[in-house]
Amino acid sequence: MKITGNYMGDVIEEVAPLVKEISGLKTNLEKSVIKIRWFNEKSNYASYNPFEDVFKFNKNLFLNEEGLKLIVGHELMHNAQYKSKEKLLIKQIKYFLKSDELEEINPLNALTEGDATLIEKNLQEKFFKGAKRTLFKRRLPFTNSFANSSEVPYTDKFRSPNYVKWANILKNEFGGDRDKINSLYEKDYNQLKEIFGEKK
Ligand SMILES: [Zn+2]
Repeated sequence: MKITGNYMGDVIEEVAPLVKEISGLKTNLEKSVIKIRWFNEKSNYASYNPFEDVFKFNKNLFLNEEGLKLIVGHELMHNAQYKSKEKLLIKQIKYFLKSDELEEINPLNALTEGDATLIEKNLQEKFFKGAKRTLFKRRLPFTNSFANSSEVPYTDKFRSPNYVKWANILKNEFGGDRDKINSLYEKDYNQLKEIFGEKK
C-alpha cells in the first residue's frame, strides 16, 4: 500500500472508533493534521504531537496493513489522551519546566506511552492478529524499494523496551480495568512515580 495523507486519513477514521471502544477515551480529530515525510528509510516512525495536533508518519512504514493500523491506533490513543484529559498537556508543560530530565523518567511519559502501547497490544489481540513487520536485506539502488523482504509477526521486539515495561505495569497492576487506568490521568506526577518508578 502507498502511504499518502488520504490513505492515512481513511485508516485513522477506521481505527479511531476501535481505540475508543477499547480505551474508553474519545479522540477528537476535528483539527488534526496528517503529515507524511521521509524520516528514515528503515523506520516505522509515527508520532502524534499534542501541542500542534499533528500526526506524522514515515513515507514507508514497513508494516502490512494490519501492522499499520496498530501504529495508527497507538498514535490515536495519544490524541484521545490529550483531547479527553484536558489537564494532561498543562501537566506535561509544568513537568518539563521543573524537571531535571536527565535525572529520571518522566512519569507522565510512562503513563501516556505505556497506555498507548497497552491499547496498541489490545487492538492487536482483538482486531489485528495478522499485524506484520517487513524485514528486508538490502535496498535496491536509486529506489525506495527493497530486495529480499520478508514479513514477520509484529511483536514486542519491535517496540521500545520502556514502552513495553510501562504497558506491562498497567496491565499487571490494574488487570486491564479501564476505569482505573483512565483515572491515572488525573493523578499528579508524584503519584505516578510510585506506579512507574523503578521498583527496588
Ligand atoms: Zn507513543
